[in-house]
Amino acid sequence: MEANPTKHPLFPGNQQKDRKSFSPSVFSGIQIDQGLFCPGPVNVSNEVKEALLHPDIGHREVEFTTLLKRIRQKLSTVFGVRNFLKYTSVVINGSGSAANEAVLSSIGRDTKVLVLANGEFGDRLIELSEYYQETVNSLQLNWGESFRTDAIERALDEYKPDLVAMVHHETSTGMLNPISLVGKMCRARKIQLFVDTVSSLAAETVDVEKNHITYCTSSSNKAIASVCGLSFVCGRVSAFESLRDVRRQTRYLDLYRHYKYETDLNQTPNTPSLTVYFALDAALNQILRVGLPERMAKIERKARLLRSEIAKMGLEAIVPEDKMSRVLTTFRLPDHISYDYLRDALKDRGFVIYGGKGPLENKVFQVANIGEIDKRSIQKFIKALRESLAQA
Ligand SMILES: *Cc1c(COP(=O)(O)O)cnc(C)c1O
Repeated sequence: MEANPTKHPLFPGNQQKDRKSFSPSVFSGIQIDQGLFCPGPVNVSNEVKEALLHPDIGHREVEFTTLLKRIRQKLSTVFGVRNFLKYTSVVINGSGSAANEAVLSSIGRDTKVLVLANGEFGDRLIELSEYYQETVNSLQLNWGESFRTDAIERALDEYKPDLVAMVHHETSTGMLNPISLVGKMCRARKIQLFVDTVSSLAAETVDVEKNHITYCTSSSNKAIASVCGLSFVCGRVSAFESLRDVRRQTRYLDLYRHYKYETDLNQTPNTPSLTVYFALDAALNQILRVGLPERMAKIERKARLLRSEIAKMGLEAIVPEDKMSRVLTTFRLPDHISYDYLRDALKDRGFVIYGGKGPLENKVFQVANIGEIDKRSIQKFIKALRESLAQA
């Protein structure tokens, strides 16, 4: 099937003008053409949608092993791997949290962990590590507060961890955390580094090799722009190998088992959700065809356009410009507007945004700019936001 950017063969009504022609009964009540300005799941391309209608294959057959092999190589490239003998990638069924849990549940109970947290997802790493490790220390800041070099150094010297865990892009605030700085500190002290790049991979530079990352996790449905359902761990081969003799604490998410099956056989330990693998392969092809630098530059241009237009409406971002990711922006809600009002007003106009959680609940809203969003849909979104604010 050929990709056709103007009309989708399976979803002919995917284009705005054909909306009425698209009404399979399973979709009744769901408005099509929703512009997903939330941090994932995102709007996926027609190429990814087409991949969902794949031939039936047996998962223990050569068709799947070649598919998984291709995916793992492409993923490693997106993670910044140049030396494929030193680093490899493992795919795990599940959302991003599955990959995070696979890492922390597989490194052993006596691994001393230090978590750097400054938002919801950092806090989740602390909670997760507390399930699986005896000693969990943290440098836990307020949401949206940035890490200071001296504070990280002090925590490393005080707690002497075996492994540091942190989030690259703290999605709950939109702040980008300094992985290369922490990577240098960990390298100097011979400490392992685990980075959650679930919402930054393919939008921000990750470079596992340069940043001395031991394990790096991500998922299919954020900046990778595929459908939900797959998570990944890219890691040092020597680190994966060292898990062999560790007493593991889960079976399904056992990282060593995944590593072993995937590197030896290009097979998953349990039944893979075949469909989402086909979709991921298509999404990775799109990324590598354009090239990572160009892909990131495109995302950056969208972020800048949204930020400058929204600033004109008098709305303020909560993260300083030099600490913002290019994935999304968190704006303070005007005093007289509730999040529920804004979400509903935008939804009526065909757009989905995201709210604040924890200390940011009903104080902010988030506008992401990943996935298949073009300049025209951004302009429509801006118009819808302006109308929604004016009518509040
Ligand atoms: C989305 C996300 C996750 C994973 O969350 P799921 O609920 O498993 O999808 C983990 N970390 C970060 C930084 C995220 O943005």
